[in-house]
Amino acid sequence: MRVKLIYSHGVVEKPILSSIVLKTGIPINILEARINAQKGELIISIPASGEKLEEILNLFRESGVQAQEFIETLRIDWEKCVACGACISPCPTRALRFREDWTLELIEEKCVACGICVAACPVKAINMP
Ligand code: SF4
Ligand code: SF4
Repeated sequence: MRVKLIYSHGVVEKPILSSIVLKTGIPINILEARINAQKGELIISIPASGEKLEEILNLFRESGVQAQEFIETLRIDWEKCVACGACISPCPTRALRFREDWTLELIEEKCVACGICVAACPVKAINMP
């Protein structure tokens, strides 16, 4: 499950994520981070589901971090996509690639919802819901 974390000024310098990894034993992966002295935004991937995922999200929230789950990152209109590949190289996380049959594939767990591919597509086949 991909989750966006928003750290406010009051908690941005606390080692909340590492504490939660140690406490739960779940190896949370950071996909993207934008942090300064005032606030921080992280996109993370949590390899857990069900009660364990809820426990982790609650630990973030109890620590003063907003945790927003990504249900769906992108919608690709396959009727419009002409498989030109213009969205592939700008993607910073390599979440888009061609399959062996040259159709486009989105690897959902790698997508950090940055929106770069939306702007790169010449036929507006990609949308963010
Ligand atoms: S929104 Fe597009 S460019 Fe950004 S990570 Fe996801 S697939 Fe890649
Ligand atoms: S840029 Fe648009 S048309 Fe080209 S492969 Fe990507 S989604 Fe398809």
